[in-house]
Parts: sequence; structure tokens; C-alpha cells
Amino acid sequence: MSAFDNFEIWWVTGAQLLYGGDAVVAVDGHSKEMVDGLNRSGNIPVKIVYKGTANSSREVEAIMKAANNEEKCIGIITWMHTFSPAKMWIHGLQSLRKPLLHFHTQYNAEIPWDTMDMDFMNLNQSAHGDREFGHICARMRLHRKVVVGHWKDVEAQKHIAVWARVAAAWADAQDMLILRFGDQMNNVAVTDGDKVSAEQVMGYHVDYTPVSELMEYFKKVSDSEVDALVSEYHKLYECGADILDKNSVAYKKVWNAAKAELALRAILKAKGAKGFTTNFDDLGTDDIKSDKFVGFDQIPGLASQRLMAEGYGFGAEGDWKSAALYRTVWFMTQGMPTGCSFLEDYTLNFDGARSSILQAHMLEICPLIAANKPRLEVHFLGIGIRKEQTARLVFTSKVGKGVTATVVDMGNRFRLIVNDVECIKPKPLPKLPVASALWIPAPDFKTGAGAWILAGGTHHSCFSYDITPEFWQDYAEIAGMEMVHINEKTTIEDFKKELRMNEVYYLLNKSLC
Ligand code: MN
Repeated sequence: MSAFDNFEIWWVTGAQLLYGGDAVVAVDGHSKEMVDGLNRSGNIPVKIVYKGTANSSREVEAIMKAANNEEKCIGIITWMHTFSPAKMWIHGLQSLRKPLLHFHTQYNAEIPWDTMDMDFMNLNQSAHGDREFGHICARMRLHRKVVVGHWKDVEAQKHIAVWARVAAAWADAQDMLILRFGDQMNNVAVTDGDKVSAEQVMGYHVDYTPVSELMEYFKKVSDSEVDALVSEYHKLYECGADILDKNSVAYKKVWNAAKAELALRAILKAKGAKGFTTNFDDLGTDDIKSDKFVGFDQIPGLASQRLMAEGYGFGAEGDWKSAALYRTVWFMTQGMPTGCSFLEDYTLNFDGARSSILQAHMLEICPLIAANKPRLEVHFLGIGIRKEQTARLVFTSKVGKGVTATVVDMGNRFRLIVNDVECIKPKPLPKLPVASALWIPAPDFKTGAGAWILAGGTHHSCFSYDITPEFWQDYAEIAGMEMVHINEKTTIEDFKKELRMNEVYYLLNKSLC
């Protein structure tokens, strides 16, 4: 079963009765064939359901309202086979609350030069019908994706597929709960923000959860559950002799980390949450030596790594925006091969044209991006309320191109910042036993890092090898958010202009903020 099996995309064909009922019957047949063809192509991960032709304002509005109310429906594809006078779409489009894709296509591929007559043209008039529809969308300032191409064209199908994945992740985010165990790391600006606006703009909900409540789940984890999970770790990861030795400190630390993972998973499941944040200064009671101690004896970094790989959103130091964004990245890339992770800009490596940024964190990098089987290790970590031997998965990332993204709160709006990056092979880091990636941001280190900083981007971001910038373009379009994209064409001069222009645009368009 695919992760997207519970979803549907509705296809609505715009028509009218001007050319007679027979024409609409023919168009109906063509539409069915087109939708079947798209579904059979294997290129679109979400099932498309044909909802018939819409021939009047009342029919359009009925379909749009039904789409809003159908939980399975994650978006609407419209295609105007012919002139479907667009005033009849106004009421329906005003009520539509699901993502919209306008597919400018045609049943027939090439003009049958020798036989084409007026009847043929009546059935293949999207050349003007889709322009009429495009006009009303533009006039109404609707957020939508326009895909142009013949419906059998694989390139066009792939653009629809990207949108389908993003629309699915969008639907997922509208029902997303992020739990914050503890608050933000004190004084940090960039990971903070307006949670009320976030729910209005991006849909997800963020709740504070006392660590004491998490500890109620921690207390209930049985020793046998922990033993079983530790055995699983031993099978899944490279383990040194100390990790396997039941009398070692390392074994005990891994055991405690496994118990923390089971507690976190239990509370996430119980509350129906899709992501969480932690805070290294809030891990339970402060008195670790007390007999009454109930709390994590170490930062639950191993748990965060493994829960990210399962699809739970994660942000360190209370970074709820990254937790939600990571969940969205993971959700839209399901079934894709190369992986995604929460990452942090850690250390710069000045090396001329190959200058790069080491991406790491204290611990919390998702093993989905690992080049090789991760190593389970235990080392001292001197940050946070517990300065303790701490379990973690250690690996370096795959090499290859990818896209990273972050969301920042600009005070009057959210800004999505996207950067194309290339992960390159790092040198060994024998004294830094954490997971890491090493990347060069596009178009080069100086411009990429400079533009990111000018845009106000976080030190945290959500990275994927599998997506293209088009995924984020579609996401920003659906959300009605500002997006800036740092890529091989970026220059600082133009980028600064874009930021200044956006400032004006979003001040004038307060409804988009
Ligand atoms: Mn961090």
C-alpha cells in the first residue's frame, strides 16, 4: 500500500452546452480516457478521480463544495475542453479551499490536417477555453499551478506528480500537531515565531507539552520493551564491543536512550502528533542523582534521529517551524529513494571554489541520508542540562545534489527560503562523532551563504536529495507564502532587489501575509 492511497485528486472538465449534448457526451468520454491514461501512466502517485463535466455555475459550485468537504480530496485539476465561460466558475472558485491545478492540455495531440472540420474543433478547443479559465483565475488572484502539455507527455505528467505530492503533504499539514517538549532555546530569534499565524498560513498546530507529561509515558515503558529495542539496534547498526557488552556504560546509555525513544513514540502516538521539538535544558527533573529522579539521563538524540526516519517532524531547541517543515519534506518524498533530514549549519570550510559548509548537529541528523550503515556510538556531550555520555548514530551523508529549505517569520509574513546544494565527500572526522553532511550551496559558497543570510535564513534547514525546487514553488503557491530561491542563477545584486520588491509586494497584499 502506498502512503498516498488514502488520497484522491478530483478532475473537473469545464464545458458548456453551446455545442449540443452530443459534444458534451464526447468530451465526457475523452475526459474519462485522459484520466484513465494519467492513472495508468504510473507517474502520478495519487489517484485521479474524474468528477464529470461542469456546464453551469451551479454545477461548478456543487463540485467545489463537495471537494472542500471530502477529506480524501487533496486538490482539484481543471481542464477546459472548450470555451467554458469563466463567469460560471466565479462562485465555485470563491468557495474552493483545496489546491488547484489548471492543466492546459487537449484530448487530441496533433491537428488532423486533412480531416479537421468544425465538429473536430468543437471537441478540441482548450486553446481558447483554458485562456478564458486562466483569465478568471488571474482576475481573482487565485493561487494555482498551471501545467502545459499533452496529457500523454511524461514531462507534463511529472509536473502534475510534483504538485500531487505537495498537495498530499499540504493535506497532511492541515491535520498536523507538533508537540513542544519544553520551550524554545532561550533568546534564539530565528527559531521562534508566531504560532497563530503559522496555523493560519501553513495549517499546522503547535502545542506545548510539559516534560513531566512525557515522563509519565517514560515511567510506563517496560524493561522487556527496551531490551527488544536494544536488540533491534544491534541488528540495524554497526556496533563496537562496548555497545554490545551488557556490563558497559555504553550499553546502559544505549538502553536508556532506547527507553527515551519508546516514551517519545508512545506520547506522539497517544496524542496523534506528527512531530516534536526538544530542548536540551529541559529533560525531566534537575536532580539526576536523586533516588526520585525521573527524566532522561541524556539528550534523546538517538530517538530524534530514528523518529525522523519514521516520518516524525523534528526540530532541535524548540524549533517548531523546522519540525513541521521536516514532516512536510518527509511526507512529500515518501517512496522516493535518497532521503531527507533536519540539518544545521555547523562549521565553514574555506577552500576556494570548493568552499563548503559542514552540516551537522549535536546529534539529531536523520539516518535516511546516510551513505553507509550508521554506527551506534556513545560519547560524552557537554551541552545542556545533562553533561553525560550520550548515544547517537554516526554517519556521513551520501554525495549528490539536493534542495534545502527553511521558513522564517518576518514579523508580517512567513518567508520560505530555498537553496540548491550539492553534498560532497568530506574528510574523516575522527574527533567529531556525530552524523554530518558537507555541502556547497548554489551558486557558490559565497553567494549562496550571502543570499541566505540576507534573506534572514535559519541555521536550521530541512534537506532532501529527492525533491526539486518545483516542490517548494508548488508549496509556496498553495500556502500563498513568499518564497525566495537561491540557485545557480542567483547574484547578490538581483537577490537584494528581489527581497526589496517582495517587501513592497507583501505590504500591499496583506491578505497573503
Ligand atoms: Mn540547532
